[in-house]
Amino acid sequence: MKTNFNLNSLIRENIKSLKPYSSARDEYKDATTDAMIFLDANENPFENGVNRYPDPQQNNVKDLLSDIKGVSKENILLGNGSDEVLDLIFRAFCEPKEDNIITLPPTYGMYSVLANINAIENRTVLLSDDFQPKVKQILEATDANSKILFLCSPNNPTGNSFSIASVRELLMKFKGLVVLDEAYIDFSDQKSWLESLDKYPNLIITQTLSKAYGLAGIRLGVCYASKEIIKVLNNIKPPYNVNELTQQRAITRLQNLDEVKNEIAQLISERKRLKEELECCVGYIEKVYPSDGNFLLLKVDDATKRYNQLIELGVVIRNRTTQPLCENCLRISVGICEENQKLLRALKSLS
Ligand SMILES: *Cc1c(COP(=O)(O)O)cnc(C)c1O
Repeated sequence: MKTNFNLNSLIRENIKSLKPYSSARDEYKDATTDAMIFLDANENPFENGVNRYPDPQQNNVKDLLSDIKGVSKENILLGNGSDEVLDLIFRAFCEPKEDNIITLPPTYGMYSVLANINAIENRTVLLSDDFQPKVKQILEATDANSKILFLCSPNNPTGNSFSIASVRELLMKFKGLVVLDEAYIDFSDQKSWLESLDKYPNLIITQTLSKAYGLAGIRLGVCYASKEIIKVLNNIKPPYNVNELTQQRAITRLQNLDEVKNEIAQLISERKRLKEELECCVGYIEKVYPSDGNFLLLKVDDATKRYNQLIELGVVIRNRTTQPLCENCLRISVGICEENQKLLRALKSLS
């Protein structure tokens, strides 16, 4: 349990005094009778399914998520992909040219891109050789302007989850906000940190429908945090940031969780099979790292050479060799069975 946390001191002054945009749908929400007509938003009245503005609070999507995750709706904010959610967090808490964030390379590239866009210093503290956070060094790198620490667990591109003890210590000792990116949590044996949300007022968890839920194309990111933090983010989000088609598709998917769970189980089983095959049967692969995600990181003799050879054979993977600690590493997404067969055939054929 973390006490003595003062959210107010982390919020930018201009955001504290902001009067949010009030949309027509914010000002009048509920059709109390079917006979009510809505002439308040300058919409086109001819019905075609999407002629009305979407629900700015995405209540139906949040109801489902709230049920599935056991988190109250006031603790949820939705965005146009996690990328929008992360950007909102920057804009709410990080004063340009003044504040800094801490990231732990090798990790997801968007944190540093968003830091650059928002003119925020990105202080990097490399992960350890076994890809774990170096808690002491992280805390030493912080100062009073360190607003956000980004933890990605399971981490992209390394695939591992961060140790529970390290995450807990960072949550307790870091004075700013801890953003825990759980984009790959559904592929992991480790539990989500969601159930600890009440214990840590500085914890923000982001998840996405892009990976395990198979909806990268609709762009839906989810943020879970204290209702105070969610309120701040709500105040600055664009009023209709999640479009109607996205909300509809998300609802359909969240009502078919068996389908989602079945796909996740298949991907986890393919991940295991792929790892075993790569370890046993491809000579130039030096190491396949353990993965809690829907991808594998491997170390080979010459990553750029192998990457180019695979392209020639019609297999596109990700070359991560320029990332710190990832020299000669390739990242491979787990595909469906036939795709993984094609990948394995291609890898085995290379000389
Ligand atoms: C893929 C990924 C995301 C997903 O971002 P969206 O904008 O929701 O598609 C977020 N974080 C990490 C670490 C990822 O790898």
